Amino acid sequence: MENSIVQIKAEALESVAVAADIEQIKSLSVKYLGRKGLVTLFLRNISQLPVNERPEAGKQANITKKKLESAFEKAIADFEAKTKDDEFNAIDVSLPGRPSSAGTLHPITHITRRICSIFSRMGFDIAEGPEIETDYYNFEALNIPKNHPARDMQDTFYVSDNIVLRTHTSPIQVHIMEQNAPPIRIVAPGKVYRCDSDLTHTPMFNQVEGLLVDEHVSFGDLKGVLEAFVHEIFDEQISLRFRPSFFPFTEPSAEVDILCVMCRGKGCKVCSQTGWLEVLGCGMVHPAVFENAGYDTTRYSGFAFGMGVERLAMLKYGINDLRMFFESDYRFLRQF
Ligand SMILES: [Zn+2]
Repeated sequence: MENSIVQIKAEALESVAVAADIEQIKSLSVKYLGRKGLVTLFLRNISQLPVNERPEAGKQANITKKKLESAFEKAIADFEAKTKDDEFNAIDVSLPGRPSSAGTLHPITHITRRICSIFSRMGFDIAEGPEIETDYYNFEALNIPKNHPARDMQDTFYVSDNIVLRTHTSPIQVHIMEQNAPPIRIVAPGKVYRCDSDLTHTPMFNQVEGLLVDEHVSFGDLKGVLEAFVHEIFDEQISLRFRPSFFPFTEPSAEVDILCVMCRGKGCKVCSQTGWLEVLGCGMVHPAVFENAGYDTTRYSGFAFGMGVERLAMLKYGINDLRMFFESDYRFLRQF
């Protein structure tokens, strides 16, 4: 009987030594120490032994039980430690790290900053104004009275009878002139809103407005500033063409075409075979606008201009679909 418990112990220890994983150790534990395990059954059957053999058998069985418990525990701990080592060793520290992306500027932000930086080097300050405007600042003060046909050109979003989402950045001119005496030199970037949506128009888009007011400002100054700007943002070879136009807040007014940056004047799809691209509106500030701001029209003159930022970005970066700017496609955006 004593021999049998010694044999059980030897077998168990041998099995533990060759076990391949924690699962095997656990099933060995059940096999020997479980409710119907070999050691448990041995202890239970001691009462059937002759009385004189019982004490020694009991002692051996208890020693075996303790010995196996600690052998199983140790084996499980060893396997766990080994697994951790394996996980650690699985990290190849010689591999290059994964790059983390810090994101990029949106192309609209990019070109707006570029435009502002070109004008600030010419001495212009950067100005901003509210996107929600009163009828007065968006229209009246810019010489667009009620019932003026130019209001129709703008497809306005009305917040209430008297409050609108600004349809252009020109109201910023009025705010600046109300708060400052000449000389004034500002560019004003910002979002504008029009009730208009198709392939080439979106209800929200970006403009940059410019205003210069001083004594003896002429149309020649306007042409010089815009030419310097176009040469800087595209290149020296891009010529400009001024076409007479109409805006209520400038007189005389002009639309500015630049030589097509895609075909250099030969004619292509982008310029509708004309060789020219319309990029800007401009003119000499209308005396009525100066009067609304309280400026002396006999002493001061000035010019204003406005441009669509999306349009410039499309030409500058060769983008042919306006919607790309609003879709947040990372593959598109990361190129800038
Ligand atoms: Zn062209």
